[in-house]
Amino acid sequence: MKSKNRTGLLIVYTGDGKGKTTAALGAVFRALGHGWKVAIIQFVKGDWPITCGEEESAKKFSKNGQLLFVQKGAGFVGIMGDKKPRAVHIGAAKKALKFAESIIRDPSYDLVVLDEINGAVELGLLEIPEVLKTLSGRPEPNSIIVTGRNAAPEIIQIADLVTEMREIKHPFRKRKIPAQFGIDF
Ligand code: ATP
Ligand code: MG
Repeated sequence: MKSKNRTGLLIVYTGDGKGKTTAALGAVFRALGHGWKVAIIQFVKGDWPITCGEEESAKKFSKNGQLLFVQKGAGFVGIMGDKKPRAVHIGAAKKALKFAESIIRDPSYDLVVLDEINGAVELGLLEIPEVLKTLSGRPEPNSIIVTGRNAAPEIIQIADLVTEMREIKHPFRKRKIPAQFGIDF
């Protein structure tokens, strides 16, 4: 159901605890159930040999055009053996943002998730003004969710809802348990 009385929101999931992308995907699951048209655009992520569970699930919902799922990043930046020139990462992030802008401006997308865009900003791949411009292109009553640690104060300021995931315990910290299939990716 697409209620005519709904209010579009800019939602931020940030913080150092696990659950930011998971929360966004949960919102997507809920929205799809109501017949909303959804886009998930992943920044930074991409160029990874393993397919995430959300990518596989997305294929099922993509068939009728209800869900668009795209990874627009060039992968890890400066870690995990990344040897790409910084310009490649910047180029990918800028392209992702341009794409996100076109999707956000399309009124048919009820919900747009910009996953890990905060990371792209923190890494200096994107400038704050261009991100704010993109976020402000949202037609009412559509909503946007942005995720990633260390959300910029400027984004927090214009957001309607901000939740900080705070790490209390994480299996990696004490027991060095690596990211788990089905739970983490
Ligand atoms: P998720 O995608 O599981 O909801 P997230 O979006 O909150 O996690 P990211 O910063 O995007 O967290 O990190 C992605 C990966 O890092 C996931 O595999 C996640 O489990 C792991 N991770 C998240 N928080 C922590 C933490 N505090 N310590 C170690 N690893 C973490
Ligand atoms: Mg995440």
